Amino acid sequence: MSLVVTGTVSIDSVYTPHAGHRETVLGGSCTYFAAAASFYAPVRVVGVVGDDFPEEFRSTLASFDGVDLAGLETRAGSKTFRWGGKYLDNMDHRETLFTELNVLMEDPPRVPAGYRDAKVVFLANTHPAVQLGLLKQFPKPALSVADTMDLWIESEREALVALLERVDGLVLNYDEAEQLTGKKNTVAAARHILEMGPRFVVVKKGEHGCILAHREGLAALPAYPAEEVIDPTGAGDSFAGGMMGSLARGLASGEVDDPLGFDAIRRSLAHGTVIASFNIESFGLERLSALSREDVGGRFDAFARMMRLH
Ligand code: AMP
Repeated sequence: MSLVVTGTVSIDSVYTPHAGHRETVLGGSCTYFAAAASFYAPVRVVGVVGDDFPEEFRSTLASFDGVDLAGLETRAGSKTFRWGGKYLDNMDHRETLFTELNVLMEDPPRVPAGYRDAKVVFLANTHPAVQLGLLKQFPKPALSVADTMDLWIESEREALVALLERVDGLVLNYDEAEQLTGKKNTVAAARHILEMGPRFVVVKKGEHGCILAHREGLAALPAYPAEEVIDPTGAGDSFAGGMMGSLARGLASGEVDDPLGFDAIRRSLAHGTVIASFNIESFGLERLSALSREDVGGRFDAFARMMRLH
């Protein structure tokens, strides 16, 4: 069941309070999503980088089994999107140091003709007008979900509202949900977002887990209790990768018949939680690059045991 992700592929600079900093790290919303999703299902990437994008970064991404980079365009004469972030002592909070949109200010990437039959589409973080333009190129997805970020909520609200009318689901952080709705209570903020269009909203709360608000009900899931957090960058995108990848896998195997249903989405959140918990153990894709499916399965079982109530 084909899974496509659109979003950013970036060169990041990351500053952490305990593990030092890295000047040039492979990042981007698409990048983390695709690497994480590949543990569950094949994933096709739609994005654009400049000709300054290191070959080594492309090879790292390509080394994930099932990541298809035919839709990752390298644009001659353009510069790759760059982002810098600094984590505060509480690793759940970060400051954006700079955002250089570069190639994101130009024409959006093209969706290859062979990708258009995708059944599962994830619109990872980028300009919401670009997200909507890309979504329209998929005639019949069974499931479309978007992510967004403070920058876009602040500067492109109108485009974001238009996008929310068209997607099935939205995944965002607690702070962003509050920024979008003006509501401090997570459930109230999520319900407000449901009124804006989506069938479900996942509000992530870092080490405090996440809340699913669906038209059919509410669910809550804790985070995996991590002992060591080195770099939380990409936690949200890898969470979405595990979530959407597991739904795509379930659809392909017949285990999931309604990818929009409450139970299917609720279960997929546990996969997102587990894969994100690995991602934060190192900078960039370092941890996911060294991970096996057995490692992922083992942690999933441990997580399921921790949550057993009866
Ligand atoms: P996360 O930690 O899951 O929010 O994702 C962080 C990643 O998103 C970094 O690797 C950045 O390159 C990328 N990113 C940062 N700001 C933006 C933005 N405004 N739009 C799209 N991607 C972004």
